[in-house]
Amino acid sequence: MHPALVRRFVLPRMLRRTWPELTARRGELEASQWESAAQHEERQVERLRTLLGEAARSPFHGPRIAAAGLANGGLSSLADLRRLPILEKQDLKDRREDILVTGVDRSTVTASATGGTTGAPTRYYWDDRYWCLSSAVTQRAYGFLGFEPGDRHAMIWGTAFHQSWRARAKETWTQRLKNLLVIPGFELSEERMGVWAKRLARHRPKVVEGYTSLLLLFGGFLLRNGIRDIRPKAVVSSAEKLYPWQREFIERAFGAPVYDRYGTREVGCVGAECPSRQGLHLSSEHVIVEVVRGNEPVPVGESGELVITCLSNRVFPFLRYRIGDLGRLLAGSCDCGRGLARLELTEGRVHDLLTTAHGTYLPGEFFPHLFKEYAGVHSFHIHQRSDKSVHVRVVKTPAWAPEQEASWTREIQKVMGNVQLSLEYVPKIEATAAGKLRFTSSDVPVDLVNQAKEMVGA
Ligand SMILES: [Zn+2]
Repeated sequence: MHPALVRRFVLPRMLRRTWPELTARRGELEASQWESAAQHEERQVERLRTLLGEAARSPFHGPRIAAAGLANGGLSSLADLRRLPILEKQDLKDRREDILVTGVDRSTVTASATGGTTGAPTRYYWDDRYWCLSSAVTQRAYGFLGFEPGDRHAMIWGTAFHQSWRARAKETWTQRLKNLLVIPGFELSEERMGVWAKRLARHRPKVVEGYTSLLLLFGGFLLRNGIRDIRPKAVVSSAEKLYPWQREFIERAFGAPVYDRYGTREVGCVGAECPSRQGLHLSSEHVIVEVVRGNEPVPVGESGELVITCLSNRVFPFLRYRIGDLGRLLAGSCDCGRGLARLELTEGRVHDLLTTAHGTYLPGEFFPHLFKEYAGVHSFHIHQRSDKSVHVRVVKTPAWAPEQEASWTREIQKVMGNVQLSLEYVPKIEATAAGKLRFTSSDVPVDLVNQAKEMVGA
């Protein structure tokens, strides 16, 4: 369908309830991106004050806000935010219902789960207001690249588990109406990639988006087979850290510049590159990003742990949330002239590719995607030995039940094929020397990665 028709008729009907607000927020964001850093900070203080006012009604946050002297408009600058303790992933697990603000009409909030960045699934809530702001911020990030809703779009992505054929058919139909083609990223054999490459060429996407490892996998297929008829205007890499050699390899495969984006399911789009590609522009109207070591702030330019406050979710406040990724704030301004501060991820989610019994590769991103479906999983670690056998370690929660084990074992075998699978329940998963962000690892050498590195001389 013509993109203009999708924008004018399809999306407003499909998103009847939220479309007017989403469009209004997007309009505001278009203007505010050019404002100065000082104006952004002023807006952040104002929005933070409102958020703290709402969050005071959360049984979890209320006492913390009061103890920090931030109740009743006690915040005068962004620095005051540091008086609040950091919200840890463990708090989300232990106190989820208490974090929710009291007096919220339950019928207006949606519960979500994320596989998280540290091998520990978490659950949280959001409402329409958050959804509109968060979606508007994501739309603006696409807008940096000249892409608007309704334009032809393709994603190489993880798809839902336990979905009925009816639900899947409905989803495919909805995607088609939106000019979106989704390639299921966890089922990519050579044969399937061949089928998808043909469909992708016919789809003529303006933007192709995917997990970094999936773009590598699919890009490798295109290069090996000399396929050159998939030529989007831009490729967006998200969900995993993008290294320079990966960017170069993916650019070669798709013949288009690659732009990095950083977001998380809990707080949406945190930052995105503009065409100048001088760091990720923060979604400053939507999030406040601090960089800390332990609990102490680190100066601009130095790397540390990212702590994120989401200004848009007032029903389930993420106040100083330690997200599990590492980065540094960049000094100075970007050539594009936007006033949005910039971030560089120094270490983000890195997963090894696992090798399946069929000789294909499975991105490690599969596992957080899978385990977020099970309330019985507190955290997990996956290791593939050189004989391809897979060892899964799981820390249980009180919600664990035996049928969950059968269910996730089935899902793993479906994608991994006939590999030996061993399961171990452990009280705790220790951080590895390679860092806590690597919760999938494999001893099987991956030719694709070595070939790609060789090709770009990395
Ligand atoms: Zn820029």
